Amino acid sequence: EIFPGDFSENPRQRQTPKILFATTDIVHFKNPELIAFNENLSEEIGLGKIEDDRDIAFLNAASLPENIRTYSTAYAGHQFGNWAGQLGDGRAIYAGEIQNKNAKKTELQWKGAGATPYSRNADGRAVLRSSVREYLMSEAMHHLGIPTTRALSLSFTGEKVMRDKLYDGNPEYEKGAVMLRTAESFLRFGHFELISAQKEIETLQKLTDFTIENYFPEIDSKSEHKYADFFQKISERTADLIVEWYRVGFVHGVMNTDNMSILGLTIDYGPFSFLDEYDLNFTPNTTDLPGRRYAFGNQGKIAQWNLWQLANALFPLIKKEAILEKILNDFTKMFWEKHDIMMAKKFGFDQVLESDGPFFTDAQKLMEDLKIDHTLFFHRLESWTENSNLKTHFENVFYDQITDDQFLILENFIKNYKERLEKNKISREESVALMQKTNPKFILRNYLLFECINELEEGKKDLFNTIILALENPYQEIYPEFSKKRPPIYNNQSGCSMLSCSS
Ligand code: AMP
Ligand code: MG
Ligand code: MG
Repeated sequence: EIFPGDFSENPRQRQTPKILFATTDIVHFKNPELIAFNENLSEEIGLGKIEDDRDIAFLNAASLPENIRTYSTAYAGHQFGNWAGQLGDGRAIYAGEIQNKNAKKTELQWKGAGATPYSRNADGRAVLRSSVREYLMSEAMHHLGIPTTRALSLSFTGEKVMRDKLYDGNPEYEKGAVMLRTAESFLRFGHFELISAQKEIETLQKLTDFTIENYFPEIDSKSEHKYADFFQKISERTADLIVEWYRVGFVHGVMNTDNMSILGLTIDYGPFSFLDEYDLNFTPNTTDLPGRRYAFGNQGKIAQWNLWQLANALFPLIKKEAILEKILNDFTKMFWEKHDIMMAKKFGFDQVLESDGPFFTDAQKLMEDLKIDHTLFFHRLESWTENSNLKTHFENVFYDQITDDQFLILENFIKNYKERLEKNKISREESVALMQKTNPKFILRNYLLFECINELEEGKKDLFNTIILALENPYQEIYPEFSKKRPPIYNNQSGCSMLSCSS
């Protein structure tokens, strides 16, 4: 028995053996309003500019061209460490797949265009705040150079949606929204887990062959160990992704296996956050307390745990425990090697030396103990020179006043940093250039999203538009006011940096 889950008792389980999807109609919203359209992405994937009302109606999920058959897919997952059986996709509806002139394929799907056969008791709707967060953040991640699903358009649906905020027992209504998002594929670990748990091995094999053929050209599909190679590649892509999250200080917040992309994309933007002050224990997800399973510093380990669940799901195809266990055990070493190479670049080192592991740990401890802003710290290191006055050079990176003893710790760290830089084989200029392309100047901080959403709720779009320009150029400082630490008024408002799972 691979999974403890029992499907036989669940009346809402998938009713169609061998089939992973159901045709699903969208809501056909009556009074939608397009708020944002990503023209660059549209051109890139092979769609064009908006030409007429029919194009807008399509983006808004208001009406469909005749030739489109919309559908949604089912998947399962492990949530917070427990097998949760079939649970998605209750609110993503595919418009289909498009091909650009280079034959590159892209899938399109609405999030929030209405209930699907897999919605269970939920409404299939999305609210403005969660849709704006996903729209902006997925684009921010893309421009940071991090694999992600992307955002094509965002619309108000004209509906009021009821969510879990209850005051005085009265339901609270929020503005409904729908977004159209894109990815090479939206396949998740959970798709494989679902059919494996239902013991449809033939379907599992079909899905796996399809995935290898379409998305893993580096795998020889005639090889007898292609399924093990497939798992190995997913393991590598996942490690690469999590290392990228550490580079920019991103906390996903809900790394359930249903939110893990088979292609190693960042997917499912819910209660995510960038770090302001460096904190390995930080989780932005209120549902993740007190366990902090998905805290910043746990993401590598959790990725490996999730890969274990995927290994279980693929086991019927691979059938050799030793092979899977080796890949899983090697994950730790592979992950830390990639992580240390990334960290070296952040500090402007041309290679990883034996002594760098302890140096990186010291840096993490310094940032954590002195409540230092993760992003700003690396800015300041970039412009640091031997002539810098440390007190003034670093004065804007702390969230608390630092003591004299703490200042000595910083001073000592900088002394070690200087000695380490002297071991570089590249010039200081080259080292700084390396840091500049590794360390973003702009990250989409949660307080900014919070302010942007409040303004949009009131019908104001200026901040939204400015944020888009900033996130398109994250390695430049085009809006210096966005490249400062979180303002003090937000310091103790957990409502700003913490969010619940589903909205
Ligand atoms: P999440 O916690 O965001 O990963 O959501 C897990 C699953 O819950 C999704 O895959 C959806 O199938 C389902 N879900 C979340 N919100 C809704 C909603 N408003 N309506 C229908 N299904 C939902
Ligand atoms: Mg999800
Ligand atoms: Mg979600």
